[in-house]
Formats: sequence, structure tokens, C-alpha cells
Amino acid sequence: MKFIGAHVSTAGGVENAPLNAREIGATAFALFTKNQRQWYAPPLTERQVSLFKERCEENGYAPCQILPHDSYLINLGHPSAGGICKSRDAFIDEMRRCEQLGLTLLNFHPGSTLGEIPVEESLSRVAASINMALEETRGVCAVIENTAGQGTNLGHTFEQIACIIDGVEDKSRVGVCVDTCHAFAAGYDLSTPEGFAETFRRFDAVIGLKYLRGVHLNDARKEQGSRVDRHESIGNGTIGLDPFAWIMKDARFENIPLILETPDSSAWPGEIQLLKSLAL
Ligand SMILES: [Zn+2]
Ligand SMILES: [Zn+2]
Repeated sequence: MKFIGAHVSTAGGVENAPLNAREIGATAFALFTKNQRQWYAPPLTERQVSLFKERCEENGYAPCQILPHDSYLINLGHPSAGGICKSRDAFIDEMRRCEQLGLTLLNFHPGSTLGEIPVEESLSRVAASINMALEETRGVCAVIENTAGQGTNLGHTFEQIACIIDGVEDKSRVGVCVDTCHAFAAGYDLSTPEGFAETFRRFDAVIGLKYLRGVHLNDARKEQGSRVDRHESIGNGTIGLDPFAWIMKDARFENIPLILETPDSSAWPGEIQLLKSLAL
């Protein structure tokens, strides 16, 4: 089964996300469980939690179809003691919110060296951060997203992601989300049949397909290897439509959330419809 959706709005509260997902014909969705641009958020109320669960159940969204995303402020590889402390606290809070909502995944960008420490040191800080969060929570898998490699951001190579996973103690609660735009911008070819096959062959060889817990379906605005993170609507960018058709027909992408983060939200119902038809 292919679970296809988008990163939907939580305006008015997290409990509105499943309704917004249903509205666009989605069979999966992503959401922020708090304001993604602020450090602190009021705790979820009991009413929010029960409404969220009720609406997910009514609309057929199981936890394996939902991919929450953490705040953009968090940097689990932060070079400074104060910075990493703040990020770890915020990340643990995000994991707890997922746990409260009955969710099993939390998608995050690995972090950044900020140009102040070596990449290897920052990567081992990320792994230590994940270990702490897993220790403090139950049932939620930390899902590392590959990045475009802008600036000093970590995680644009499969090797860096494998290095983080290597440092995580409980391997059953760590996973990976592949963002197609980020992979392409980082230099992985997806646009030709051979490039697509080789990219996922490498993913399996370096990281392992068993760690694949979600995909972000984004076309790219810039060329392969640009290291620039600019999403484009499906089929309108430099990746093109074909690779999304290949994903839709490929059994390796079954039963995980496949999430659009494309810029034009008014196009989501059409994009979801298109992707569903490609899966047939
Ligand atoms: Zn993404
Ligand atoms: Zn992006």
C-alpha cells in the first residue's frame, strides 16, 4: 500500500491536521506538533490529544501514515554546550508530544556544525542527542532526514547519516526519511533510470533500506548537485515526473508515509491524485 499525502497545516491546533489531510484526499500526512519557529510551546491539552486520535481513527490515519516534523530551530549537533542543551531539551519535548499523540515517528534534520567543529564531532553529538531522547521517551522512532547540504548543514551524504545511526544504541528506534529534492541537490542522480537505481542501491549499501521510514516527495528548482534547498511542484522541476512514477511503482516505498512538501499547497489535491494514479 502506498500512503501519499502532504505536510498539512495545524492552524487552530494539532487536532485539525487529520481534517486538513482528508480535505486534500491524502492517505498520509506530516505536521508540526508545535510552532516550528519558536522554542517553547504550551503543552498539548487532553482535549487536543483525544480529538487528534479520534479524527485520525475516523479518517483512517494509522501512526505509520503520519510523519511529524520537528522545529527548524533545533540543532542536535550544535557546537556549543548551551546551544546543544537547548536543542536537546526541545527535541525531547517534541518526542514527548509525539508519544502523547500516539505517534511513532519524528522526522528531523540532523543539524549543523555552524563551521565551529569538525563534521565527525558534530555527527557524534547528533547520535548522542538521539540516544538521550530515546532514553527519555517510549515508542517514537527518531527519523533522520537527508539534507541538500546548504552551508554547514550535516546529512547531505548517505555516509554521514550512516555515521549517525552507527552511534545510536537502540537501532530499532532510528530511521531515515529521504527527501528527493535534497538528495538531488546534494548530487545524487534521480532523474535517469540508471541514476535512480544507483542512488537507492547506494542507500541500501551505505545505510540499509530497513531504516527507510518515510519519503519527502519534492521536485527541485535547481540543478543536480546545486546544494540549494528549493522545492518545486511534482513534474515542474529539474527532477521531472518520471522518478515519482518509479517511486509509486516500487515496492520498497510501500507502507511508509510519502509526503509532499511542494510550494503550491493549492496543487496538493491534484498532485496526490496524480501520484495515486501512478501507483496503480
Ligand atoms: Zn523534506
Ligand atoms: Zn527542503
